Amino acid sequence: MAAKIIDGKAIAAEVREELVKELAELKAAGANPGIATLMVGDDFGAGMYRGAVEKFCGEMGLGYRNETLPADATEEQVVAVVKSLNEDPAVSGILPLRPFPPQVSDSAVINTIDVGKDVDCFHPFNMGKLTLGEPTYPPATPSACLELLERYLKSEGKDVTAELEGAEICVVGHSNIVGKPMALLVLNRNATTTVSHVFTSNRGNLAKHTSAADILVVAVGVPHLIGPDQVKEGAIVLDVGINRVIVCPECGTLNRSKKNPCKKCGADLSEAQQKTVGDVDFEAVSAKASAITPVPGGVGSVTNMMLARNTLRAARAQLKK
Ligand code: NAD
Repeated sequence: MAAKIIDGKAIAAEVREELVKELAELKAAGANPGIATLMVGDDFGAGMYRGAVEKFCGEMGLGYRNETLPADATEEQVVAVVKSLNEDPAVSGILPLRPFPPQVSDSAVINTIDVGKDVDCFHPFNMGKLTLGEPTYPPATPSACLELLERYLKSEGKDVTAELEGAEICVVGHSNIVGKPMALLVLNRNATTTVSHVFTSNRGNLAKHTSAADILVVAVGVPHLIGPDQVKEGAIVLDVGINRVIVCPECGTLNRSKKNPCKKCGADLSEAQQKTVGDVDFEAVSAKASAITPVPGGVGSVTNMMLARNTLRAARAQLKK
């Protein structure tokens, strides 16, 4: 079987078009939706994400406020900035970009965010609402997975509710920002939900769970962790992982760094190509799955649009106040 590719870029473009229309309506009604990012220090990944948010806000006509504090900022200073963002009427949604330096605790920042502006569902109140099946702002990355799944199933002429109810869905990864909320989102849709993680792997049980899944969501951060032997024939596979790797020019093995020789064949990697891959071996798994998201061009493409959607939802709620 050759898997259908679930095209994240195309789906993101569809969602964006819908959101741009909604944004125009909101603006006509007097709202001025905008996102603020909060960064402390100069973490590379956080900086990349910040730039991406600024870019899509500019492209869509959403407002944007950048708050970047120095790496030695105190927790009190960071919390004071969050409070100022809570008060700013031009900020509908607040996105904290972690990691924060050690003197700034995640919970101090997150617990200060106005729950009505917590557009990536970090606050315990909003996580609680998600657990109860009443999410106000479902978190962006798991929402992107569900959006891709729903649009793919609809494009196949399937009834989404019927497809999800009772389906075996295995989520690999149990982080607070992806794995756990992903599991809750599909549990809320009455899927038979399994969560596996590093300790599942350590016991040698990962394949047992992944290969029973009709729908497999992988959010780990280990390049090509999932190969065809861990996937059920005909499964739908959603790959959340984003891994920068060095491809060995001699044997094709994926390595983490150019500084060391290839971990498999010992070849020199100093001139080797860098590449972004997912947690799933796309080529090999494509031969077994019925549908699969690529990396890049899959889940990541849609994540930003889910953040924008939540921001519009927040702006609409703030307009009513
Ligand atoms: P994390 O490091 O917080 O969590 C990793 C999870 O993977 C943990 O639950 C851990 O138990 C599990 N894990 C680690 N090794 C494993 C193994 N060998 N077998 C099974 N499980 C294992 O990571 P995260 O923030 O959840 O992100 C996961 C991946 O998703 C990363 O590659 C990240 O870059 C990517 N990501 C993508 C998006 C997007 O929009 N596409 C958004 C967020 C994160």
